[in-house]
Amino acid sequence: MMWNENDEKQSSISRRRFIKASAGATAAIMAGTFSLHADETNKFQLPPLPYAPNALQPVISERTISFHYNKHHQGYVNNLNKLVTGTEFADMPLKQIIKKTYNQPDQIAIFNNAAQVWNHTFYWNSLKPQGGGEPPAALIQKMNDAFDGVDACKIALAAAAQTQFGSGWAWLVLDGETLMVVKTSNADNPLTMGMTPLLTIDVWEHAYYLDYQNRRADYVNAVLDKLVNWEFALQNMKL
Ligand code: MN
Repeated sequence: MMWNENDEKQSSISRRRFIKASAGATAAIMAGTFSLHADETNKFQLPPLPYAPNALQPVISERTISFHYNKHHQGYVNNLNKLVTGTEFADMPLKQIIKKTYNQPDQIAIFNNAAQVWNHTFYWNSLKPQGGGEPPAALIQKMNDAFDGVDACKIALAAAAQTQFGSGWAWLVLDGETLMVVKTSNADNPLTMGMTPLLTIDVWEHAYYLDYQNRRADYVNAVLDKLVNWEFALQNMKL
C-alpha cells in the first residue's frame, strides 16, 4: 500500500466522518445502549502499517516494529490530538500544521508531534519487505545526474544517516529538480525547507537499538540493501 498526498485529504475526510460518527456514538452511550468510548478529540489516527509487523525481519525485528509503531508513533498521534484540541490546528491537514508551527517557539510541542506523526508514516512507506535492489529507471537517471550513480547515492544516504548527531532522520529529497541527500535533527523534516521528501531513514535510537544496539551503520546499510522502497521514492518524485 502506497501513501501519498491524497491520503492527507482522505484522512481529513475520515476525521470529519469520525467526528460525525462519534456524535452518534455519544448519543448511543447516553441512551445506555453500549459503552464504546468515543472521544471526539481523537482526530488524527495512526495510519495502518503497510505490511505485517514481522514482515521486515530479519533486518528489523517484529519487536522493534511493535514498540516503534504501537508505542512511539501512536504516542505522537495521541500527543498531537491532545495538543491541537480547541486550537486553530484542530482541523488543519498535517503538512500545514508542520509548516505553520515550524520555528514558532510557543508551538514547539505541536510541531514536534505533528512532524513525528508525518515522518513515521513516511518512514514505514519508505521500507518494504524484499526492498532494496535496483531503483526504477527514472530514479537511476536522477542519481546519475546528482551523484554519479546508484551506489554513490546510497553511500551519501548512509553517510547522512550515520553522521546525524543524536536523534534524527536521513532523507532523499528533490530540491527543485535536483536529487539531494539531507539529514535533520529530532522531528525536523525537509518540508519546512521547501523540499520534496522522497524517502527517509529513521535514525533515532528507538528505530534500531533493540536489534543493533550501538551499530547504527549496520542498521542503515541493511535497510538500504534489503528494505528501501525505491518505488515509493519514485512515486513521490512524480507528485
Ligand atoms: Mn522513530
